[in-house]
Amino acid sequence: MMSIDALRRLFDRFDRKVAEFAGATRLSCPPGCGECCDHADTEVTEVEAELIASYIESEAPGLRDHLRATVADHDRVACVFYDETNDLHCMIYRVRPLICSAFGYSAYSDKSGNKLFAVCPAMDLARKTGGAMQILFEPFPPVVEHFSDAIERINRDAYNGVRRRPLGAAVAKASGVESRAR
Ligand code: SF4
Repeated sequence: MMSIDALRRLFDRFDRKVAEFAGATRLSCPPGCGECCDHADTEVTEVEAELIASYIESEAPGLRDHLRATVADHDRVACVFYDETNDLHCMIYRVRPLICSAFGYSAYSDKSGNKLFAVCPAMDLARKTGGAMQILFEPFPPVVEHFSDAIERINRDAYNGVRRRPLGAAVAKASGVESRAR
């Protein structure tokens, strides 16, 4: 599907910018931390859900049963793909949604157009900076709304609009395992 290919290219570009920024700043997530996933309420576009569904179909078909069971578990607060026993804590790490890649490694624009780095609260840096800091020298972290806008354009072309749904329900629908998905 062309929209999935376009999304993969966009994610590759995003990942390169993150790697460049993380390499220059030596920022990294605290060892063993999974705080952004163990109480996640992630929403995704249709095209992000299609990419994950296509990954599950071709590389991790066993996740279909997991997904069916997990989306029906309304008491679960962790992300449907969170796995604390896995080093990366994510069962779909290679195709995770933009918001997951962006968390802790991206910037946003303030009202004056300044690019502010959004510091992850679990990093030591958060205490020192109050949660955001302006980056004055390159390499800049990727600006999340630029990439999010680009995803919306891809989604609009493919689906005639943009609809965001909770991650589990969106992937269950895209994978054809939707039952009582939330
Ligand atoms: S998709 Fe992966 S990275 Fe994103 S919240 Fe879920 S477990 Fe975490």
